[in-house]
Amino acid sequence: MKKESILVCGTGIAGLATALGLARAGFDAALLGPRSMQEAPSGDLYCPRVYAISGSSQAFLTRLGVWDMMDERRITRIDTMEVYGDASGAVTLHAWQAAEPALAWIVESSEMEKALQQALRVFGIPWHAQKFDRLEAGRVHTDEGAVLSADLLVGADGARSALRRAAGIAHHSRPYGDTGVVVHLAAQLPHQNIAVQWFTGDGILALLPMPDTSEGHQVSMVWSMPAAAAQALLDSPEAARRQRLEADLAAATGGRLGQLKVRSPMFGFPLFLEHSGMVAPGVALVGDAAHRVHPLAGQGLNLGLGDVQALLQVLAEKEAYRKAGDLRVLSRYRRARAEPVLAMRLATDGLHGLFAARSSPAVWARNLGMACVDRLPMAKRFLIGGAAGR
Ligand SMILES: Cc1cc2nc3c(=O)[nH]c(=O)nc-3n(C[C@H](O)[C@H](O)[C@H](O)COP(=O)(O)OP(=O)(O)OC[C@H]3O[C@@H](n4cnc5c(N)ncnc54)[C@H](O)[C@@H]3O)c2cc1C
Repeated sequence: MKKESILVCGTGIAGLATALGLARAGFDAALLGPRSMQEAPSGDLYCPRVYAISGSSQAFLTRLGVWDMMDERRITRIDTMEVYGDASGAVTLHAWQAAEPALAWIVESSEMEKALQQALRVFGIPWHAQKFDRLEAGRVHTDEGAVLSADLLVGADGARSALRRAAGIAHHSRPYGDTGVVVHLAAQLPHQNIAVQWFTGDGILALLPMPDTSEGHQVSMVWSMPAAAAQALLDSPEAARRQRLEADLAAATGGRLGQLKVRSPMFGFPLFLEHSGMVAPGVALVGDAAHRVHPLAGQGLNLGLGDVQALLQVLAEKEAYRKAGDLRVLSRYRRARAEPVLAMRLATDGLHGLFAARSSPAVWARNLGMACVDRLPMAKRFLIGGAAGR
C-alpha cells in the first residue's frame, strides 16, 4: 500500500521533530523551509537561544533518538527553582519533592537542531530548502516556483505562519507590550543547578543554570521588561549597555549569584499571547504557528513538542480508511490539544497579570499566596508536575 505523504512547512525545532516522528512512524514525510546556515557554537561559545526542556519533552526527544545524540556537557539539569515575589513572598521547588529526576534541562537551540538534523539525514527525509509561498487548489507553491502536494500539510512555520494564513485558520494575537531580553552572564557564585526567578512588579527576571566556562560560572538571563525599557537598553552603545544591565542585575538579584557580567551578545524578543483554530481540511498547525505564550514559565517550545506528540498519536491511531488530512482525524488532534494549550495560556497570562498589578491588595495577595504555596507540599508537587509537563 502507498504510504501517505505529509509535508512539514517550517524547519524550527517543532518542524524538525514532526518530520522525524512521522518518518519513524512510517509516513512519507518531507520538509519545506530554510536550512540554518550557522554552525552550532562550540567550546565556551553558547547559542543565544536556550530552552528549559520539560520532563515530557525530554522523554519525547529520547524516544525520537535525539536526546542522547546531544553533547551532555552542554546540557544543564535544573534541580531546584527559587521564585521571589516583589515583597516577602518566595517559593522554592525541588525536583525530589515530586520524585522527578529534574525540574527541567537547559539546552541550546542549536544543539537540538543539530541532533534533529543528523537524525533526519539518517532517515533520508527529503528537505526542500525553499519557503512556503501560497496554496492553490490544495497544492503548495514555494517562493522559488516549485509545486508540491501531500495528503497532509503541517504548519510549523512559526508565529507569523504563512500556511496558517493561506489555509484561513482563525488566529488571535495580543501583544504584551513587553520584550524578553536574553543574554548569557558570567556569575561570581556557582548556580548549583538552581534556576532563580524574580517577579519585580515591572518585569520578570529569570537566571537559568548553564555550563561553566573559562570565565567561571555561567547563567542565561531572560528578562521580560516593558518594551520601551528594553529598546532603550538594546539601543545604547555596547559598553553603556553592559554597564547598565550589570547595575540593574545587581539591584534586582540582591547579589544572589554574586557579581554578574555580560558574556554574550544581547537580543530582544517582543512577547505575545496567541492562539489559533489549529486545523483546517488537509492542514494541521504545531508549535508557535498554533499558539504562543509568555515565556515566564519557559513552556512555549514544550507546548509545541506536546502538539507534535499528540499529532503523531492521532495519526497512528486513525482508521485505515481515513486519510491523514481528513478533518475528522485532524479535529481529534485539535480536541486533544485544546485543554493543555488553554491551561498553559491561562496559567502564564494569569501569573503575568497578577504580577503586573500595582494595587496594594494585589501585591499583598501575590506575596501571601507564594508564602502559602511554599508551606504546602501538595501544591508544590502540583507545580513541579506542571513544570515537568505531566
Ligand atoms: C525570550 C523567550 C524565551 C523562551 N524560553 C523558552 C523556554 O525556556 N522553554 C520553552 O519551551 N520555550 C521557550 N520559548 C518559546 C520558544 O522560543 C518557541 O515556542 C519555539 O522556538 C517555537 O518553535 P517553532 O519550531 O514552533 O517555531 P520557530 O522556531 O519560529 O521556527 C519556525 C521555522 O519556520 C521557518 N519558516 C518561516 N516562514 C516559513 C515559510 N514561509 N516557509 C517555510 N518555513 C518557514 C523558519 O525559518 C523557522 O525555521 C521562549 C520564547 C522567548 C521569546
